[in-house]
Amino acid sequence: MDIQGNRGPKRSIVSDLARLGVQNDPAITAEVERLLTLRTRDIRFRGEINRLYQARIWPQTAKIIRAWMIWVAFLGVVTLALNILLLPPAISTTMIMPNAIIPPIAIAVALIWQRPRPPWLQGGFLIAGMFFILLAVALAGINAGGEFYERSLNIMLFVAVTAIIIFGIPLSWTVTIAALALSLYLVLQLANPALDVGSAVAATLFFASGIFATVVARRNMTLLAQKTFLFGLRDRRRVAELADVNDQLERLARIDPLTGLANRRWMEETLSHLWGDGRKRHDRIAMLMCDIDEFKKLNDDFGHAEGDRCLVEVASIIQDNVRSNCDHVARYGGEEFLVLLPGMSEQEAVFVAERIRESVEAAALPNPTSRVSRFITVSIGVAVLGPAGEALSSEQLQRNADAALYQAKESGRNRVVTHPPVPPKIRSALTG
Ligand code: GH3
Ligand code: MG
Ligand code: MG
Repeated sequence: MDIQGNRGPKRSIVSDLARLGVQNDPAITAEVERLLTLRTRDIRFRGEINRLYQARIWPQTAKIIRAWMIWVAFLGVVTLALNILLLPPAISTTMIMPNAIIPPIAIAVALIWQRPRPPWLQGGFLIAGMFFILLAVALAGINAGGEFYERSLNIMLFVAVTAIIIFGIPLSWTVTIAALALSLYLVLQLANPALDVGSAVAATLFFASGIFATVVARRNMTLLAQKTFLFGLRDRRRVAELADVNDQLERLARIDPLTGLANRRWMEETLSHLWGDGRKRHDRIAMLMCDIDEFKKLNDDFGHAEGDRCLVEVASIIQDNVRSNCDHVARYGGEEFLVLLPGMSEQEAVFVAERIRESVEAAALPNPTSRVSRFITVSIGVAVLGPAGEALSSEQLQRNADAALYQAKESGRNRVVTHPPVPPKIRSALTG
């Protein structure tokens, strides 16, 4: 928003970041910085950071889990069909039951992961679903017996490993799935009539080392993803801070520090925004160029500080006499103020200018050695652009207002002069 509350600066990117869910919470900022000082392997997400992270990764994780479940359901159906086609009926019929339960279980888990639900429900369904899928894969071969027994257990571990590697779920869930797969493997190998206890335990330990390495790899991937997430949060916060500082700097570069009014630069931008090439937002626009009379005398008599106080007073009087919601006031130079009155006719602008001139005079700010009056007075040049047919540029408007001000000074000061001058009859009617 500008000084008069009209034309805003570019939409702040801070609000864009807020939409992305970046919290401007100092506690989160502190936690992000603390976590980033730790070694990667020591990073642990808790509380709000964990909630933000889970919310961020949920869509991707859920998509992977759903895709995996559908893949497993599809493979269950294809395997069942191939077994029926290729294997002797005595063997394939024993596989029908275990294989048939895989698709409904996998689809049930995929449905649960269709949208965010409480973690216990998602985790519970995923772990239970994985257990029954792994059990069904194992049972399909166990029921067939012979060479199928061990093969199905190996396939079961393969299925478990793919899930462990690709599911970006909390470590405790990953470890539970790994433990379930190995327990199933051990129990079913112990029950394998073709193996003695020692061989069953040795095979389990062999696969356990592989599964352990898979879990560690998964954990490292998760930690790296978490670190990247932390860097992302830090970057967004810094970008937001920079945007904030930039906004402030931009504001400061457009404000006159003494009066708090817009400065000349901002006024030129506002003018070109209102009346730039081909962008006429109003059918006409009036400009008042106000200059304090004999201001040098005030400085000489009372000093620069008193001169400054007078400038602040005059600025405030001018602002009090314009519409706060659409007019624009700027400090244009040392003791010169410029007022833009969008949509105003020349007569209305002269009326406002007279009101400003009278108000300054009525404020009775002393200027004892002025040749105009014992008090501070202003001279005002008025120029108007529009309505239809006038192809004047905003630069021409400023030149006209300046010329009118010059006329006001020349003809005795403490007066309002228009460019071109309003006929005296209208003028006396306006000013009473
Ligand atoms: P005129 O009626 O012709 O406008 O006479 P003037 O004395 O107002 O005009 P002139 O241009 O001779 O002097 C303007 C003075 O305004 C000179 C300068 O010292 C003073 N001035 C400019 N900027 C500031 C400011 O920021 N603070 C103060 N106190 N004085 C300033
Ligand atoms: Mg002056
Ligand atoms: Mg001047």
